[in-house]
Amino acid sequence: MGQAKKRKQRFLTDHTQCCYCGLPATTIDHFPPRNFFKGRHWPVGYEFPACHTCNHAKSRDEQSLGLLVRLIRFDTDPDTREFQEALTAVRNNNPILIKELVPKSAVASKLYLRNRFGSAENVGGLGLTGWRGLSIGPEANRLTDNMCVWFAQTAWYLHCHSIFEGRIIWSRIETEFLGHEAAQQIVSNLVGQPEMLRNGKNVSNDFFYRYFASDDILVSIFQFGQRPQMVFVVCATRKGAINTDLELAKLWGQRNIDLS
Ligand SMILES: [Zn+2]
Repeated sequence: MGQAKKRKQRFLTDHTQCCYCGLPATTIDHFPPRNFFKGRHWPVGYEFPACHTCNHAKSRDEQSLGLLVRLIRFDTDPDTREFQEALTAVRNNNPILIKELVPKSAVASKLYLRNRFGSAENVGGLGLTGWRGLSIGPEANRLTDNMCVWFAQTAWYLHCHSIFEGRIIWSRIETEFLGHEAAQQIVSNLVGQPEMLRNGKNVSNDFFYRYFASDDILVSIFQFGQRPQMVFVVCATRKGAINTDLELAKLWGQRNIDLS
């Protein structure tokens, strides 16, 4: 038996249930997926047990998400070849998404950036002059929905040590909002700051998260890139653990944030 096969067998002996559905696991799944990382330098330890059905069902969406996360990064020096490859793959396999990603007009994009960063000088200082926004439609929303659910399920498995069952609430917020007091309060509670390492090299420039986990609740903020357009806030709670609509706001002092 080869090393890889032995490793897989050992992993599945320690992790018997699919972290997504709870059925017997037969494969190893990576989350965040390998194609989210430049040069496919995915972090060690982010491997999860999955049944064939769940693993297979994710793969096509992950290809599309690989393109979306590159767009979200606000990245002015994308590795062009990888970006082009991601684009071609999605063109072939998910034309609905491509159809949906219509560039906003140059005027609308300029106005958006100026409103967001205060002045044309600030926009220029960030190297974003000429950046064109894209309209987001139902397919992109479906994909980000799935991504947040998978994030919650895998983070729960990793940090709460069980198969998640309950309610997941997520929201995307513009990065600047993290400077606000209410958001700062949440972030200060997210004491879990995992390292994302690959061969000793930090890969958190591509993906980074902070979290708080207890037996009943996992709250996390994650982002792609060092200066992304938006960050994702995800909360997962066990069924009946807390009234997520009312108590969450009190617990995290985040009345100003719509997590719906
Ligand atoms: Zn499964």
